[in-house]
Amino acid sequence: DKYAATDADRDAGHTGERLPPCEPCEALAATLNRHLRAGLCRDERRVEDLFQALALSVKEQLLDDWRATRNADNDYGRRQVAYLSLEFLMGRTLGNALLNLDLTDEARRCLTEHAVALETVEEAEHDAGLGNGGLGRLAACFLDSCASMDLAVTGYGIRYEYGMFAQKIVDGFQIERPDRWLRDGNPWEVRQAQRALTVPFFGHTESYVDRNGRRHMQWVGTQDVLAVPHDMPVPGYRNGRINTLRLWKAEATDDFDLEEFNQGDYAEAVARKNLAEQITMVLYPNDASENGKELRLRQQYFLSSASLQDLLRRYVRCFGEDFSHFARHNVVQLNDTHPAIAVPELMRLLMDVYCLEWDQAWEITCHTMAYTNHTLLPEALERWSVRTLGHILPRIMEIIFEINARYLDSVAHHWPGDGHKLAAMSIIEEGPEPQVRMAYLAIVASFSVNGVAALHTRLLKDGLFRDFYALWPERFNNKTNGVTPRRWLAHCNPRLAALLDSRLGSGWKSDLSLLSGLNAFCGDRDFIHAWREVKQANKQALAELVSRECQVQFDTAMLFDVQVKRIHEYKRQLLNILHVIHLYQKILAGDTEHMVPRCVLIGGKAAPGYAMAKLIIKLAGNVAHMVNSDPLVTPWLRFAFLPNYNVSAMERICPGTDLSEQISTAGKEASGTGNMKFMMNGALTIGTLDGANIEMMEEVGEDNFFLFGLSADEVAAMKRDYRPQEFIQRSPALKAVLELIKSGHFSLLEPGIFEPLLQAIESPWDQWMLAADFDAYCQAQHRANELYRNPERWAACSIRNTAASGRFSSDFTIANYRDEIWKGA
Ligand code: PLP
Repeated sequence: DKYAATDADRDAGHTGERLPPCEPCEALAATLNRHLRAGLCRDERRVEDLFQALALSVKEQLLDDWRATRNADNDYGRRQVAYLSLEFLMGRTLGNALLNLDLTDEARRCLTEHAVALETVEEAEHDAGLGNGGLGRLAACFLDSCASMDLAVTGYGIRYEYGMFAQKIVDGFQIERPDRWLRDGNPWEVRQAQRALTVPFFGHTESYVDRNGRRHMQWVGTQDVLAVPHDMPVPGYRNGRINTLRLWKAEATDDFDLEEFNQGDYAEAVARKNLAEQITMVLYPNDASENGKELRLRQQYFLSSASLQDLLRRYVRCFGEDFSHFARHNVVQLNDTHPAIAVPELMRLLMDVYCLEWDQAWEITCHTMAYTNHTLLPEALERWSVRTLGHILPRIMEIIFEINARYLDSVAHHWPGDGHKLAAMSIIEEGPEPQVRMAYLAIVASFSVNGVAALHTRLLKDGLFRDFYALWPERFNNKTNGVTPRRWLAHCNPRLAALLDSRLGSGWKSDLSLLSGLNAFCGDRDFIHAWREVKQANKQALAELVSRECQVQFDTAMLFDVQVKRIHEYKRQLLNILHVIHLYQKILAGDTEHMVPRCVLIGGKAAPGYAMAKLIIKLAGNVAHMVNSDPLVTPWLRFAFLPNYNVSAMERICPGTDLSEQISTAGKEASGTGNMKFMMNGALTIGTLDGANIEMMEEVGEDNFFLFGLSADEVAAMKRDYRPQEFIQRSPALKAVLELIKSGHFSLLEPGIFEPLLQAIESPWDQWMLAADFDAYCQAQHRANELYRNPERWAACSIRNTAASGRFSSDFTIANYRDEIWKGA
């Protein structure tokens, strides 16, 4: 009986008996008023109260569909996908849920009674910032697309008590503040205490012989932690499907430290419960670099184990303990190596809990796991020391050793007598402190390994994973990233959405290729006029944000030039700042003929331990101060650093941008997704041949894209003998910019503070090759300047960019995952 109670159900007092279905929902207005009354015992009503009540009402509206979706999926009519990710950068839920459920107008009507605009209520929602940047936001876009395309996909993640830190800027320096996003409660989540599972840590392993004389291993003396699911609804776009994002919260089991209780140390023992709960306390704020902290490993295992136990429990409920069809009914997509520990964990569960033999468990694991790689940067490749892993997860370490031994046999077979290959490809990196290479573990056990843009996948095959590609070419494939057009066009840019609806109909929201219909309007004066009016209004909204957050006045008549993303040397915000200084020098020298006035905006968080990134923020602030305080300069140039860049900020920023900065050193940005959001909203891109920029330029044509700089192959070749001084000596502009920084012009009160940045640019070890690309970058900026002088031509290019952005819908990406990886989903 698939509705039979599980042990956990029974422990929690649930019998498993099914209750009759609920009554249909009341209308939104009635529910809203009920929640307002029920949630408050005072008359005064804050906008936060309205948000809570409206969110609870919307959740109530979707409960029946949510339940129906889950019940339908429990029959395994199709292959189920578990998307495992340590990060889901969801942002706000309300506006997007209303859009997808077609409740926006109704919500608006309900709120008129309370004399509040829907937008004001939406602003009261705290961002769910459970991710660092692109990787986490990709997971969020994928969930929206999967639900909208009617796929049975469950997101599995961690319910961090503290999400991505809030960034404050004090005297130009980044200060991190904790993000207590759950302070007012989370109206969207449903806590499923009866579905809690236990995850073991520490202890040791023992072998034993069963009744049939078979030898098994068991993991004993463990410290168990409870994993409690908190489910968030993921509504599809007007199709009745409500998928689930299941976020695990760590809690202490009741028998936690029973010994101490018995010895009378009651208070101490209760206090120690915190240790278990620490696991899901905080998101590690590192983007594109590994953490190496034990607690992070515990998070990874906690997520992986709880999610796989959940999958197995559901499967067993439907099919019993016959696992021969498990891989046909399930696929686990690993979002980077963060959850790669799921590989040995699935082996452990199948062997130690369900008593399968190694070969059968391995067969199942290898047909279930699929791995997405997100970066080539060596500092991001995860490794765990054998010592740490063996201490925290002794049984898992044993299984990894066994996987490695068997896999190295096949390597030896392929390259007989090649000891170097064995060492290079081993999952265990030997040395004074042996390490487990998590990417290798993921590849060895996955039937699919994908990169996230065409160039990235090529570089994986030719470079980082070359040997694996030689061994298993059929496993490698590309899935270029995408972004959801519901949040990133329909929701965030209602003005443009209305204009698109008026000319193309509304079908583009679920078939973004229809945007190509815009090409017919590139020469239509009325349409260009309407297009420019939309952009002006969006620039006004962005200018208001900048004024409020940065106290800098942006003028909507000027070109809005924007770079928002995590601060990282490879993304080259520094190159952007050097160009701002170059413009500043031209203006001071009176060289403003044909110069288009511009407002430059940079925003993004630096990892708290990343000194260079923090110094780049400081330089941006100091340069902005000099630029904005000189009345001779501000008619031509204004510059702001936007604090606390997050999803909600991006929803305001991308519609109001003219020029999108995607200027990473070629070969370093795996794909990018911010680039696609800007393009969709009609920004032109200034960019290098990196990540998905290449595919974007292919779609829109080089005439509508400001391309510059070295290619990935040129960067790799130049690395062998890089001489920045030669570029600096050859470029009077760059020389002047560096000299101005050196002179202390931007650091009068902090002499020498920017020395590390100058040294990096002038060093032959500068991997990011700023000096090599500076002149080409300025020339591309000049081309942008020239085009902007003709507003009609600029608008036509802007229209062509939106028209060509259909390929970058995450619906398209997910269709490829479905057809080529998740076959049968
Ligand atoms: N952070 C946030 C809040 C985003 O919305 C995005 C994508 O739009 C990113 C980071 C990733 O940006 P990029 O692809 O430019 O690195």
